[in-house]
Amino acid sequence: MVRAYVGLGANIGDPVRQLKQAIRLIQDTPDIQVRTCSSIYRSDPVDYLNQPDFYNMVAELETTLSAEALLRRCQEVEQELKRVRVIRYGPRTIDIDILLYDQLLIQKENLEVPHPKMKDRSFVVLPLAEVVGDTERFLIPGTSESLGDWVKQIGNPRGILKLEPMLTKREEEKTNVENRKC
Ligand code: AMP
Repeated sequence: MVRAYVGLGANIGDPVRQLKQAIRLIQDTPDIQVRTCSSIYRSDPVDYLNQPDFYNMVAELETTLSAEALLRRCQEVEQELKRVRVIRYGPRTIDIDILLYDQLLIQKENLEVPHPKMKDRSFVVLPLAEVVGDTERFLIPGTSESLGDWVKQIGNPRGILKLEPMLTKREEEKTNVENRKC
């Protein structure tokens, strides 16, 4: 069993619903267990600014899938939710990235882990920190930094708001997936 973290984001359609559907589809995958979900965060768009706000979250998974197989499954879930993306960094129904896969460093053409852009993105680092809990002891593979260092470097984040827990109490009980309790 490997512990992996995925980051999810959506900004068109019904983003919160799509995040929940994506988590359900991931949870329904044989060989993947969703362990913990962060809250949902709403943030201003970056890169391509003329688009709706983004809704983001992070989930902690346990899986026996290889990193490549996990990527394929994430891409299938994106397809199942009819991911639409016309412009690079533009609006999307759902985006799923592998942030971390165990302590592995992966540098392949189609897969880079740790995800190369996660460090400076408060909408990834903050929900990840929420799920991880003890950020000081959580070392980022391939760096000499901890997740706590990244949180400090982000400092007082702007343009991001922590919203509701990802799962309702009922969903939490039904699925056996935990909201992170902070
Ligand atoms: P994007 O839709 O902008 O997230 O980019 C998707 C592309 O990034 C796909 O072609 C993936 O093969 C590639 N990719 C590279 N590293 C990762 C990663 N850690 N997680 C998800 N996709 C990745």
